[in-house]
Amino acid sequence: MTTTPAADDPRTAGAPGSPLPPLPFESPATAEDLAVMREQLGRDMRGVVSIARRCGCGRPAVVRTRPRLEDGTPFPTSLYLTLPWLTLDISRIEATGTMAELTARLDDDEELAAAYRSAHERYIARREELGTAAEVDHVSAGGMPSRVKCLHALAGQALAEGPGINPVADEVLATIPGAAPELVCRCAEDATDTVGETR
Ligand SMILES: [Zn+2]
Repeated sequence: MTTTPAADDPRTAGAPGSPLPPLPFESPATAEDLAVMREQLGRDMRGVVSIARRCGCGRPAVVRTRPRLEDGTPFPTSLYLTLPWLTLDISRIEATGTMAELTARLDDDEELAAAYRSAHERYIARREELGTAAEVDHVSAGGMPSRVKCLHALAGQALAEGPGINPVADEVLATIPGAAPELVCRCAEDATDTVGETR
């Protein structure tokens, strides 16, 4: 269900003058993708730019969205996790207190903290390829640059950018079966679970 976008497609080439390499897995969002995301989230996903990462089955896993929605609302989380089974697994991890542990490690481990700050800067630079929203100019997502507050948001970045960009999310994804290095489909597992609980 994926298609090969044109080489000059701004969604895959990055913005003119962007210092960043293209997102490695980005592909256009089709009408079918929008319908699948509506099922995944239980609502319409707004501000959709592209699909930044897909599940092994081809369904959207991370959607890339505009920094400002059609109604003018700033939307800083521009790499948004939609995949139900992964969302659920990450919610389970969040419920164990992992975020406090990770935040504490950022205070103790300067190397980890520096890499995490780089991920924060990368997040903002990537979003700025799509424009800016002054209200959230220095805001990234997930608690970056100094805290860990939402693993879903961090995972969205790690899945979209590939490994080695967000060390905290890479570490979390490595503990989830099927989440890394390849995203293996587990969509059949939780077909009856509800999603979108604590986002
Ligand atoms: Zn799948």
